[in-house]
Amino acid sequence: MTQPTARAVAFNDLRAAHAEVRAELDACWADALEHASFIGGAAVEQFERSFADACGIDNAVGVGNGTDALQLVLEALGIGRGSEVIVPANTFIATAEAVARTGAQPVFVDVSPDSLLISPDAVRAALSARTAAVIAVHLYGQLADMAALQRLCRHAGVALIEDAAQAHGARRDGLGPGARSAAATFSFYPGKNLGALGDGGAVLTGDRGLADAVRMLANHGRGGHDGDHAVIGTNSRLDALQAAVLSVKLRRLDTWNERRRQVHAWYRELLPAGARATAIEAGNVAVHHLEVARVPRRDEVRGRMLAAGIATGVHYPVPCHRTGAFRRPGADGASCPVAEDAAARVLSLPMHPFLTRDDVALTCDALAAALEPAVRP
Ligand SMILES: *Cc1c(COP(=O)(O)O)cnc(C)c1O
Repeated sequence: MTQPTARAVAFNDLRAAHAEVRAELDACWADALEHASFIGGAAVEQFERSFADACGIDNAVGVGNGTDALQLVLEALGIGRGSEVIVPANTFIATAEAVARTGAQPVFVDVSPDSLLISPDAVRAALSARTAAVIAVHLYGQLADMAALQRLCRHAGVALIEDAAQAHGARRDGLGPGARSAAATFSFYPGKNLGALGDGGAVLTGDRGLADAVRMLANHGRGGHDGDHAVIGTNSRLDALQAAVLSVKLRRLDTWNERRRQVHAWYRELLPAGARATAIEAGNVAVHHLEVARVPRRDEVRGRMLAAGIATGVHYPVPCHRTGAFRRPGADGASCPVAEDAAARVLSLPMHPFLTRDDVALTCDALAAALEPAVRP
């Protein structure tokens, strides 16, 4: 019997990305061995400079990963036990983990129904005398409403931090992450728009003092003179090899983001009516880290798409305040109804720079078929 060969569509395609820059990546490895410089050094300084320049912000500090980047910023701002930090309920768990690891209390707020980004109205309602900071998450690759959040935070006298782990190169009203906040944090996890060949992260800030404080905390509190350790720090540094790889891939970031915008345009054209697209808020030039739609019977739809050769994801299946890590006993009422409803319906469709219009058409056809009610015997 001959099986029809269904064409598969991959969720992401890191091999294709790396094939484009393979010779340059090989050279990174050779250089690292040649110079025997593995932690810090010229490759890290060079990447920090080019990332800061590309983002139009004065200071970049390479760190171990995106979660540490957030925690280090919070610690450098003196935020810890006794403080509250407002975070969206619909985000990757790392946003809340970073807060909790400092000893501060994450306060979860709901997201806007169309964009699923942190809602400024919900932030306003959650501000308290204990609020020390608000973390805006630029979820799925578009910036949250930074103008509104900046006004709120200035008025309340609290710090504004951006979790830009999904938004390398994104802009809103002409401004990128780091332009309207104390600092923006990035992850270079391999699957992000700008990804290393392992873990990595960065803090971007216009505040030189904050950059120095983060750098000191991330490198065992080293600073001052005579080899002193001025504060209790940790080990969260960017490897030289990863920095070199990131410098190579940074040169492709705009091109790859532009291709993601093209893929998103095809989705906008072809997405079946039964799926609700995530709205891009006004003023955004998004970088479409993820292409998230909301569908009924999500898990069944997902299974039927997988059977048709289409890989999908779910970002995120449990809102942070309902996870085992953060739910509070006895607090079962729906406190973030939009995030809770979204968690049951969100479906991430294949999104990467190497998708063709045919891939998107195939995906949307499979989605349309999967949305048809199952035939009952
Ligand atoms: C990936 C991600 C992080 C964490 O980054 P790591 O490098 O994996 O620690 C934090 N926040 C968001 C929104 C992310 O997507």
